[in-house]
Amino acid sequence: MAGQLIIKQGKEKALLRKHPWVFTGAVAKIKGKPGLGDTVEVLDTRGNFLGRAAYSPHSQICGRIWTFDANEQVDFEFFKGRIERALRMRQAVLPEGTTGYRLIAGESDALPGITIDIYANWIVCQLLSAGAELQRGVIVEALRSVFPEHNVYERSDVDVRKKEGLEQVTGVLHGGSHGKNDVPEELVIEENGLKLYVDIVKGHKTGYYLDQRDARQAIKKYAKGKRVLNCFSYTGGFGLYAAAAGASFVRNLDMSQPSLDIAKRNLTLNGLDDVDVEHVQGDVFQLLREYLSEDKGGEKFDVIVLDPPKFVDSKASLTRACRGYKDINRLAAKLLNPGGILMTFSCSGLLSTELFQKVVADGVLDAGREMQIIDRTYQAADHPVSLPYPEGLYLKGLVVRLVG
Ligand code: SAH
Repeated sequence: MAGQLIIKQGKEKALLRKHPWVFTGAVAKIKGKPGLGDTVEVLDTRGNFLGRAAYSPHSQICGRIWTFDANEQVDFEFFKGRIERALRMRQAVLPEGTTGYRLIAGESDALPGITIDIYANWIVCQLLSAGAELQRGVIVEALRSVFPEHNVYERSDVDVRKKEGLEQVTGVLHGGSHGKNDVPEELVIEENGLKLYVDIVKGHKTGYYLDQRDARQAIKKYAKGKRVLNCFSYTGGFGLYAAAAGASFVRNLDMSQPSLDIAKRNLTLNGLDDVDVEHVQGDVFQLLREYLSEDKGGEKFDVIVLDPPKFVDSKASLTRACRGYKDINRLAAKLLNPGGILMTFSCSGLLSTELFQKVVADGVLDAGREMQIIDRTYQAADHPVSLPYPEGLYLKGLVVRLVG
């Protein structure tokens, strides 16, 4: 054992409730000389075992609990067991015709600091903490034993690694010929029976926004025969589902041209070239204003999707972010035809579901519209939320329609 974290009296309560983080302020004493990512024992002041954690000396969260079970060691068997358990649970909830899914959702799958997504025969890992970094070798070994046919790629090019004192890294961990060029650029996954290109090397996050799968499926209910505006489209997921459901017109908007190029090819891949779909590169905030202006003839839509990137990255940015959410929701509400539907999302974990609803309500009010919620969506079930870890919920959506 590399060391021990002794928790201040009274500060052990969160751990006893199985919340997996140890904050520096809760630590009375560090015994031994644990290094970056080392596995340490977490004890109360009387020496009772609370958990076994990965040590992050540079982070405010200095311990991330691997296990609350004193009999469980953090080794190959441990990671293999966690991965097998997660896989069983995914198999129970994934919709048919779906080969892209989140296998490990960090803390919620009792593997803090680890994100693992599956895209057909490629596994993409993000190692976000010092502990995850240190265990890279054994994690890959465990993945190979559970998925012997799969290749493994790492996308640990994320800012949060800085807080942990880690550099950003990407590359093949197993398979191909261990070179970046051996990763197929045109990886194809299936999602609810639709085919999608995923670029695991240059795409956002690990390649695709798997968490919005259920919301994309939900647009099918509203899209038939309708004019759909898909804002922040990325590779066109919502637009593709809308086209497949018989939309009369779809426009995908994104600032990223490479993402829009993939969006176009996704339509061809699914034999949907005959649907009227436009791809517009630009800033959604500006484009929505243009559509509202008189000289564009006051263009209107029946279904609008607003799926922006994370606007809130710290508590300090919450107010400014709310203004951003309010602005796009106000503009979208104005652009709807009578009976129109707005599917509006926030993936900012620091913005609560209630506050998000309030901000959308404010925007709609400013637009002079009356709307009602007819459905709510959350991150799909392969992105579960561990019950004692409410921080695991980050993605929420409202389906609202114009009254009248
Ligand atoms: N709806 C998508 C995921 C959207 S992710 C899906 O289902 O897969 C957010 C997207 O917003 C990214 O593709 C990013 O390029 C784009 N984006 C961020 N800011 C933008 C802006 N101001 N205007 C247009 N696109 C923006």
